[in-house]
Amino acid sequence: MNITSDVVPEVQPGVFIHNSFTILSNFESANLARVKYVSKQIPGIDEDLEFHLWTNPDCGGTEFECNYKSWFYFALKGGTPGMHVRLNIVSSNNQSKMYSQGMTPVFKVDLGKTDKSSEKFCKASWSRIKEIPTYQINNNQEFVLSFSHRALKNIEATTYYAFTYPYTYTELCNSLSFYEKQFPLSSDIRENNETDIYFYRETIVKSLENRSVDLLTISSFKGISEERECRLFGLFPEDKPRSFVFKNKKVIIMSARVHPGETPSSFVMNGLIKYLVSKDEQANILRQNYVFKLIPMLNPDGVARGFYRTDTRGCNLNRFYLKPSLKLHPSIYAARSLILYHHFGYELRDELIEENSTSIFCNSSDNNDELNAKMKPTILNNDVDSFNALLKKSQSCTADSFTNKGLDSGLYLYVDFHGHASKKGIFMYGNNFDNIVDNIECMVYPTLMTINNQNFHYTSCNFSKRNMYSKDKKFGLSKEGSGRVAVLKYTGLVRSYTLECNYNTGRFVNYIPPKVNFVSERRPIQSVIPPKFTPTVFEQVGKSLAISILDLSNLNPNSRLDSSEFKSLTGLREILRSNIINDCNRTRRLGSKSTSSINIDTPITSKQVNLVFYCNLKCYSFYMLLEKHPFQAFFFSF
Ligand SMILES: [Zn+2]
Repeated sequence: MNITSDVVPEVQPGVFIHNSFTILSNFESANLARVKYVSKQIPGIDEDLEFHLWTNPDCGGTEFECNYKSWFYFALKGGTPGMHVRLNIVSSNNQSKMYSQGMTPVFKVDLGKTDKSSEKFCKASWSRIKEIPTYQINNNQEFVLSFSHRALKNIEATTYYAFTYPYTYTELCNSLSFYEKQFPLSSDIRENNETDIYFYRETIVKSLENRSVDLLTISSFKGISEERECRLFGLFPEDKPRSFVFKNKKVIIMSARVHPGETPSSFVMNGLIKYLVSKDEQANILRQNYVFKLIPMLNPDGVARGFYRTDTRGCNLNRFYLKPSLKLHPSIYAARSLILYHHFGYELRDELIEENSTSIFCNSSDNNDELNAKMKPTILNNDVDSFNALLKKSQSCTADSFTNKGLDSGLYLYVDFHGHASKKGIFMYGNNFDNIVDNIECMVYPTLMTINNQNFHYTSCNFSKRNMYSKDKKFGLSKEGSGRVAVLKYTGLVRSYTLECNYNTGRFVNYIPPKVNFVSERRPIQSVIPPKFTPTVFEQVGKSLAISILDLSNLNPNSRLDSSEFKSLTGLREILRSNIINDCNRTRRLGSKSTSSINIDTPITSKQVNLVFYCNLKCYSFYMLLEKHPFQAFFFSF
């Protein structure tokens, strides 16, 4: 047996050639750094060929390189038709838990131009690979994921492989352009009916690599005024007019793709947008009552470059919401300005100027000295003139033009969408409060998701204090700087959430109760087996998020709440209240000596108060035990 092994040469950027095989990573969101082949020539038997494929870590080859490397995306072309080749993805992050749960990469076959006979099949679509991939830790202690590729007969065909269903920056731009054409804004808004769909796309800020970070406004024309929203400090770089101001409508802010590899978040966002602009009567009620402000891609640079978790400076942007810098974290700065603007109803100009005079040039926002040192040289290269021009532009709009709403926030809800590798199902993180009323209120929206989405796992939700302040292993940055926690800190908004979607599947499916008018509803037979998650499943989550808002606002004329175990919103709150108290009771029996300081500001007995005192922090540990070891938890509770 003759074994040969060598590096596959990169003949041009992102093009590797070994004999008749071409391996490609010269396209958007691709990630493949280098390739090696191992060939075994056995007389009388076909060649046994393997490719070892290494991916780039986030910011690979730069001073900001960090060790996030779960995302891979490359393509294969050519080879002897029918030949099987083993593909080994070497040194990705150790995701053995995820792959042990049945996670599979995805593939698509682009048949190329020569396949004229089957033109309609040329639009390739993604599927999960059919085989179960294997994984191991090799002699160099590297995680290796392996699966096989079969060379196709059609030499023009290209097979693409990715960590999971890709969704690129260009796909987003194309999709938003499509909606813009579908819902053009007339020159005179008075021509529109109250029920017409208002869809407006703006660039809220440019990314560090000059990509547009889009902001969408979706509502109906009800309550629209001729006044324009404020051109916030340093933001909205285009000359396009700002979106119109809506009177007496609360704002819902949702965002996705702060972590570039977490593509499920984009599909959730797509499902949400698709539903919000649909003809569905419930979507119409949502538009009549709320203004949706959506940022579909917070980290377009990371997405375009095929990163897993960071921006082009190696920052996990979801740790910079407390005091982001316009220069260093423009999209996070923009999201925070937007949230503050809609919370107060006007822009806090003085505070922003003061803040930026320090944060932009001293970078006081970062609590990591090593990162700070790396960032400073980049600041010096920035175009200060264009920054000053933006500042001047934004000063033309003053806080006086808006009504000060005092403590009545203009915000109704905030959700930031993510993907999750290890914990199964779709679930949310919420914040933890010192009083039972807010804790209940925070749990209502995720509970409503269980009656509107079969894959939503309430038992995987986390509302603990620990999950608000825990620190990352790698850089030690706290979750206090995440969108969810920071929004609570600077607005007091109780309904502030992180939505998490497992890449692969769930643990169970919820029973979905019928709608009030269930006679007219076509009810497909509901499977009890959790499905493998696909973009369609994630899109459904986006729709369910919208419908749950209607339930939360008691505006849903065709709700599932009435036929659920909760019967009504009041019933649901009562169940949440008694669950909290029962859990406290159970925790107390465990002998806890917790001294959490919860304030009870609703009529509740003194006995219950004591229980809630006990419960606040300790419930979380019980839930964790229940999650991981339900059997022990059962006995532990007695
Ligand atoms: Zn994430």
